[in-house]
Amino acid sequence: AKKHGRNNYQYYTADMNAAAYERLMLETNLRRALEREEFRLYYQPQIDVQSGAVTGVEALIRWQSPELGLVSPGEFIPLLEETGLIVPVGEWVIETACRQMKEWLDAGYPSMTMAVNLSARQFHQVDLVERIAQILQELNLPPELLELELTESMVMESVDSAVEILHKLKRMGVKVAIDDFGTGVSSLGYLKHFPVDTLKISHDFVLNLPRDSVDASIASAVINLARNMQLSSVAEGVENAEQMDFLSGQDCERLQGYLFSRPVPAEKIAELLGTWQAM
Ligand code: C2E
Ligand code: CA
Ligand code: CA
Repeated sequence: AKKHGRNNYQYYTADMNAAAYERLMLETNLRRALEREEFRLYYQPQIDVQSGAVTGVEALIRWQSPELGLVSPGEFIPLLEETGLIVPVGEWVIETACRQMKEWLDAGYPSMTMAVNLSARQFHQVDLVERIAQILQELNLPPELLELELTESMVMESVDSAVEILHKLKRMGVKVAIDDFGTGVSSLGYLKHFPVDTLKISHDFVLNLPRDSVDASIASAVINLARNMQLSSVAEGVENAEQMDFLSGQDCERLQGYLFSRPVPAEKIAELLGTWQAM
């Protein structure tokens, strides 16, 4: 039994070393990914319920790794956050998304909002607001076309500095959305103090619509809350017509999900806009 146990232990250790090694390799490769320009932004359209038009997109990062192929953010964002690499990568995201927006505007497409996800480290970066102002100014972009997606926990982490940053963004004219609204631990009262523009309904609440009566109540409560506070509402993860019908029936302002389009490279967005306008 003892021998068995020791073998197990050795096996376990070897396994852990392999995991640690793999992680180290991943970290090294991620460090190089920015220099080697291996990150890509994909864009997922947001459809305005009233007009049926694409009025915005959300930028979603991908890593085109030569060794691993196309890696989704769930697999590398946490590591970027831990290592602090999220700050330069996040800045690349904002800049790339803004350049793309500029390109679409210059090409004559109707103006669309560009939603960009921020991570906690990035949000509390001292010069974030100045950097964003600089990028918008350099590209001569209307600030209201940029919508930063934050989570409740990012804002609640240090309320005072969050309020200050949010006010600066508001003064600049940049929009702020609360991502996955209602999934965090915060109370509704914080909406009184935080100048935000958009509430985003999490995929979790959309998944079982309209059958799940609790999810249906939550989704309609968020949509109503947004409307009553004169905020915009967006539902993510819309995959079928039943979900769409329920959400549009509740007057959700924008819908986003595989039903309309998966996140796609920029060229595909241009194509989609062409076909949708023709429809
Ligand atoms: P998120 O912000 O909640 O983004 C929505 C996720 O749902 C995306 O996953 C999107 O591809 C996926 N999705 C869209 N429509 C549907 C649908 O109809 N059904 C289902 N099942 N899923 C759908 P993705 O692209 O893998 O991103 C995962 C998360 O990674 C994002 O969640 C966001 O938190 C984070 N992320 C993505 N890009 C960035 C970035 O540039 N910066 C930071 N800080 N985080 C990012
Ligand atoms: Ca998001
Ligand atoms: Ca989500």
